[in-house]
Amino acid sequence: MDTYREYLENIYNLLLQHFGPRGWWPGDSQLEIILGAVLTQAVAWKNVEKAIDNLKGADLLNLTRLDAIKEDDLADLIKPALYHRQKAKKIKILITFIYSEYEGDLNVMFKSPLEELRVKLLSVWGIGPETADSILLYAGNYKIFVIDAYTLRIFYRLGLCKEDTAYSEMQDFMHKYVIPEVRIYNEYHALLVALGANYCSKSRPRCNNCPLAKYCKYLSTLQEK
Ligand code: SF4
Repeated sequence: MDTYREYLENIYNLLLQHFGPRGWWPGDSQLEIILGAVLTQAVAWKNVEKAIDNLKGADLLNLTRLDAIKEDDLADLIKPALYHRQKAKKIKILITFIYSEYEGDLNVMFKSPLEELRVKLLSVWGIGPETADSILLYAGNYKIFVIDAYTLRIFYRLGLCKEDTAYSEMQDFMHKYVIPEVRIYNEYHALLVALGANYCSKSRPRCNNCPLAKYCKYLSTLQEK
């Protein structure tokens, strides 16, 4: 349906006008992006930044050294990202996966077909769809839209989906109606995160200055009350 296409394009343009290009993902290398995708699970990005700085300070943005470090020592370094023991375990398991499947070579890993690599990543303990798709889009440049809690909340409030819409359903929708380009998928997700983090919070959203206010069903419901 063309109207969805136009609607999603309008939303994109409004967000881009408001926030400007986001330059995502924050990270200087594929490995840094992969680590960031795991570390950001369930926490704000500012926590991740401190953990990444610690890894940089310890010269650990390197697969060989990450493979060699003890899990407990890694956990200590990534403490600012919270759930640090669990996340250290996830990172170690992911690094072992990259070695066992791709001989520790990210260039080889990211030459795999999208679906094949996605299925493999999802089979790794601790890697769910959002983390896998963030790795695929932002580190691997694959054409896949990342869905997260912000995306679902914003589109629910705009009236585009149900509150309990599943990850895969929302992703199929975005794949169907958003211009299928890595550049656009990259920017669109980053813009939704910016809106979610700065305006569309779970409780007490800042609707007054929200760039999407004129589209928002949630806001019009509030105003009717
Ligand atoms: S108007 Fe309010 S509820 Fe609607 S998208 Fe913006 S911040 Fe969220």
